[in-house]
Parts: sequence; C-alpha cells; structure tokens
Amino acid sequence: MLERARFAPSPTGPLHIGGVRTALFNYLIAKKNGGEFILRIEDTDTKRTVEGAEKHIIDSLRWLGLEFDEGPVRQSNREHLYKKNVSTLIEKGLAYYAFDTPSDLDKARGDSKGTFKYNFTTRMKMSNSFTLGADETEARLKRGGYSVRMVVPEKRTIKAVDEVRGNLSFNSEELEDKIILKSDGMPTYHLANVVDDHDMKITSVIRGEEWLSSLPSHILLYEHFGWTPPKFYHLPLILKSSGAGKLSKRDAEEQGHPVFAIKWEDSLGFKEAGFTSEGLINYLALLGWNNSSDREKYSLLELIDEFNDVGINKSGARFDYKKALWINHLHLKDFSAESLLALSEKASTLLGEKYSREIAEEIIDLIKERLNTALDIDKELAVFIGQPKEYDSVVIEKINREVIYDILNFCKLSEALISNPKALKDRLMSFGSEKGISFGNIMKSLRLCLVGNLSGPDLFKIIEIIGPEETLHRIESLTNKI
Ligand code: GLU
Repeated sequence: MLERARFAPSPTGPLHIGGVRTALFNYLIAKKNGGEFILRIEDTDTKRTVEGAEKHIIDSLRWLGLEFDEGPVRQSNREHLYKKNVSTLIEKGLAYYAFDTPSDLDKARGDSKGTFKYNFTTRMKMSNSFTLGADETEARLKRGGYSVRMVVPEKRTIKAVDEVRGNLSFNSEELEDKIILKSDGMPTYHLANVVDDHDMKITSVIRGEEWLSSLPSHILLYEHFGWTPPKFYHLPLILKSSGAGKLSKRDAEEQGHPVFAIKWEDSLGFKEAGFTSEGLINYLALLGWNNSSDREKYSLLELIDEFNDVGINKSGARFDYKKALWINHLHLKDFSAESLLALSEKASTLLGEKYSREIAEEIIDLIKERLNTALDIDKELAVFIGQPKEYDSVVIEKINREVIYDILNFCKLSEALISNPKALKDRLMSFGSEKGISFGNIMKSLRLCLVGNLSGPDLFKIIEIIGPEETLHRIESLTNKI
C-alpha cells in the first residue's frame, strides 16, 4: 500500500517549530517508504482562523524544502463530505441530534458537582433525538440550532496502538459523546479529521501528543464507520530549554531565540536569525528522535535514508538553542564559498569591491569554521573590510602598552617583512625572545591592533590578505589611541 502521511495544521496562528517538527516527521515517514506527503488545512473552526496563518505555514514548509505532493486540501471546501458521513452515522444509530442549550448543559454540570460527562451515564436525561419523540425531534430540527453527537458505547475497553508508545487501552467511561457536527453546521475536528484521513487514504497519522487523548474517540469513529484506522504516531512535546512545560513563544523570547521557522509579524524566525533550512531541519530531526549513534549532521536526503520510527522518543524533548547553533554550524562549514557569499549580499558587495573573486573565496574559507549563523558572516568579514571600529576595552586594560609600541617600531623598521607573513612570524618570535616578551603576548597585542579583540582567524593570514600598508596603519591607529 502506498504510504500517505499528512500534516494537518489548523490555521489558528503561525507555524511554531513544534508544528515544523511534526511536518518533518510526516515527511520523513512518507518519503522513507517511497510515499506521499500531503498538506491538509484543518480550517473548520472559522472563528479561530487567523489571517495569514495558512500562508505562514506554506511559506515555512517551502523554505524548509518540505515539498508536499498534494494540497493544500482545505477542510472548509469539503463540508458536503462530512454532512454525508454524519447522516450515515445517524442512520446507523451511532450518532444523534442534541438540542441542549448552553444553559441546559450548565445546569447539568452544576447538578453533578463537576463530574458531568455527556455520555451513556447522562444521555437519557438530556434533550436529544434518543429522548424526545420523533415528532418533537422533527420540529426541533426544523428550528435549527442543534448539534450532532457520536455515541460512545457503555463500559467498553477501547484498544489502540500508538507506534511510539505501543499498546494502549482506554475505558469508554472516561469518554464523552463528543459533538461531531456543531450547531453552525460545521464538523468538529474529530469528525473531519477521521473522515478526511479515510477519504484521503492516509496510512500514517503523525501528530503531537496533545492529541493522544482524542485517540479513543477517533478509534470509535473508525469502528462506527466500519473503516480500518491508519497507524498512529503521537510525538513527544518540545519542552522549553529549562524548567517544566512546553516551549512557548514567550519562553523563546525570554531565552532570546526564535520559535518560528520564518518571520511572523514582528517575531523573527530561524531564517532571519541566520539559520539555513538544512540546519534547522537537521536539528529538529534530532529533537525527539534517537538515531542511536553519535552522528550529528544529516541532509534531508540522508534523513530520509536514516530515519526510523523506532527511534522516536516517548518523553518530551528539551529544546537546546546552543545545539541548534552547533548543528547549523556543521552545515554552514560545508557550504561552498559561493553559497556562503550568496547568503550575505552585504558581504559579497564589500568583498567584491576590495578583492578579486579568488581572494574573496579564500577569505570565506578562512572564516567558515567560525560561523554559527549566516549573520556571523558579516561579523567575521569585518576584519578584512576595514580597521576595527572599536577595541575590546577589557583587553586594552590588560595589555602591556609598551609591547604594542615595541611591535609598532619593529614593524615600521621591518616594513618589507610584513609582505612576507611567514618570515614576519619567525622574526617576531626572535624579537620577542631578545626583548623578553612572550610570543603569546606579542600575538595578543598584534591581534588587538588588527582585529580589535582576541578572536578571528589566523593572524598571519589576515596580514597576508589585508597587506603591509593596512597592517601598519592599524597598528598605528591603536598606538595613537592608547
Ligand atoms: N488540526 C490538528 C492540529 O492543528 C491536527 C491534529 C492531527 O494531526 O490529527 O494539530
């Protein structure tokens, strides 16, 4: 049978990385088995639909390269299908019209002191087509404003298999006769979801574990219709980086990291924070999936090969932004110089103005190891573009000014040497031992002059690229400053 997995978000807000991970696992399970990945928009709750949310979902999936083979299929276009199936259940006596008003329900809840469940324990005391006669039911149907509920059988153990957790059983006493068609004529999530999964020949339902509690009702609906249920996978929650609970937009903001793949209103996404789609996909694949090896870096194609549903974890996966940066780094460092330059328009313009293509690529190769995000490209290139805009004040405080003057004098007197960084290094070493200054100290001072702080790529490479004039100029600038 052709594997068909669907990602079925409700357009009630932007696509959070929890949703992205669900989409990814759907994609991987479908593609691993040579199957199809489908996007279904569950938009029957029109009151909760947020403008722009569907576009955000689709744009996010496209940026991530999670191309869907079918869709977006919108539930709001399929009302006829749900109505038809509701009628079938009513005819079979497995669903019924309910006429209870909100105040009837409030009263029933109040009388039961909080234990009320609309099911076989209370059904026959409520206003529905089982309790009202045929004529009264007919009259009330004409008036409209009714809903339809599914019948939950009495005292039944409902068995289900979750591919992540194994065999599960639920007691029907815990369940309610859930509303399947609302008084506005729209289906609820439960009905539309089951009808569509059947109609769309979905073989695997992969969703967040918050839907696990709906599983027994869904299993019962499949049984009522006489359909075979698909396989179910309920994915563990993505937990905030510290403390208990699931990762929210607010936690992400507090911790200073994105929570959406791409920008939503004024919240920047991972894309804008300089993540590559490969890096984000790779990190999310490892979030809740145990690959049982030390391997960290995967492309999407490699994930399709390597992913196995056996490795999906049962317990929550803690979000770790440092790890996400690290995984993104692993991808960036394997990018070609050309692809890296394409990530920063500013960098490619500035480098293009100053250096040949060949040198520009050499520079990019030098900084590759130092990139966590694409935003680091501009930061790391600054040293090749112009003299430091500011100097690390802590380092300036600590540095021995005499050493900087000595280096300046040395470099001035041996200007020709600067054009030969290899020889410069050797001569600086012997100069250091003559003067009793450690080579480490010399390097620190020189780095402060050229870079403005103690980070950056190999110093002699920097000197080779920026050239003797600029090197001397930068040493002089700092000596003037101090
Ligand atoms: N519309 C549900 C959601 O927003 C889908 C759950 C499911 O995949 O069954 O998560």
